[in-house]
Amino acid sequence: MVSDAREQFVIIGSGPAALACALLRAQRGPVRLLMPRSPQLIANTNGRVEVVPSETLALLVELGIPPSTIGVEQLHRHRLVAWRSREPVLSSTPAAAHLLRPALERAILKRVLQVPYIAVRSIERSSIVAAVEHYAQKGMRVIDASGRKSALGQGIVHPPSPWVARLFKVETPVPECDEVFRLATLPDGYVYRAGNRQCTTVGIVGRNALLRGAIDTLRTRLAGGPAAWVVEDLPHCRWTASGSCVASVQWSVPCGFVQIGDAAFAHDALASQGIANGLSDACHAAAIYSETDATRVRARIWHAHSAHLHSLASAIKDCCWREEPAWSSYLSFLCSAQISPAQTATVAVRNGRLHDLDRATVLLSAANTLEDVH
Ligand SMILES: Cc1cc2nc3c(=O)[nH]c(=O)nc-3n(C[C@H](O)[C@H](O)[C@H](O)COP(=O)(O)OP(=O)(O)OC[C@H]3O[C@@H](n4cnc5c(N)ncnc54)[C@H](O)[C@@H]3O)c2cc1C
Repeated sequence: MVSDAREQFVIIGSGPAALACALLRAQRGPVRLLMPRSPQLIANTNGRVEVVPSETLALLVELGIPPSTIGVEQLHRHRLVAWRSREPVLSSTPAAAHLLRPALERAILKRVLQVPYIAVRSIERSSIVAAVEHYAQKGMRVIDASGRKSALGQGIVHPPSPWVARLFKVETPVPECDEVFRLATLPDGYVYRAGNRQCTTVGIVGRNALLRGAIDTLRTRLAGGPAAWVVEDLPHCRWTASGSCVASVQWSVPCGFVQIGDAAFAHDALASQGIANGLSDACHAAAIYSETDATRVRARIWHAHSAHLHSLASAIKDCCWREEPAWSSYLSFLCSAQISPAQTATVAVRNGRLHDLDRATVLLSAANTLEDVH
């Protein structure tokens, strides 16, 4: 068990990355978790269904969270996507689960509150910087897992016009609704749908006119356009708005602290990798015992960042709407920001410690990460 102040963790955030990092690190020593004072802890993910690879379920089980508690009813091995052509194509995918995001946060938080080594402190967002300085002066290791708004980042890099998602929850206690993930690209964005037997999330993602209007206007526009097949069997009367949020890639200008999950680098929502990525960052960050380890974790996150920019750019080059201004300007941004994955080191966690991977393994892992977004 860790007792040196330098090995004690202070983690900022209340999302999956922060909570998982606290749980994992608490197996080795005391952790302080600084969460926003807002009682709306999970309001920003209200009713959202998110897609995760099946491997993520295994990690969640290790953290004490069985799939049934987060709304996972089955694994999905197919999806219906219009990407290279305007017509939907049914394709096989690696097994994925559709989970209820608020249930995930509640389940991890419940586990966190059961662990005596985790001291949870509610804190006003405006007090975070002063609190962090205090803990850092005591020699404690600060981990920023505060999501896209990154409490400690020195700035955020994002496309000149970030893409925004407007999300809708559709209650679907209707047996005939199809739970296959669907996605249709449009000239100025895309529409997706992911659901389970309780509810379905419909996301309209893009910029400007695509997102404007009341629910009825948007639903009618969808039903009359090329993406009608995405929503055709959803009951009209059961749509409710469940918020809007930025969905395109972004990353923090590094600060002196370790940043994980979306606070370091937020994947494009298209990739459905944010939770898996945040949990993986959490596993690595929880194994930091020295400045060398912290540097290795930053390098690994940079590597994943670079790989995602490459795969997203490749996917957009394949999109049937790639010549449209919204897609081509996003592609230009990605190309201008590329970093070569081969230049960066990467690490693995074994027995709770970080180990450098050899070059062959690094290249293999880069190849795996570069698999198509779609
Ligand atoms: C439209 C959309 C669809 C998506 N779909 C998927 C999907 O299908 N599959 C998937 O894997 N990912 C998906 N993602 C991405 C996924 O939601 C994120 O990557 C994931 O939530 C990141 O987790 P995190 O813990 O890093 O950050 P967050 O979940 O953002 O959590 C950060 C937390 O820190 C708190 N916080 C903020 N500031 C402070 C502060 N100053 N002090 C203390 N706490 C603070 C916030 O309140 C927040 O609760 C999607 C994203 C979007 C936008």
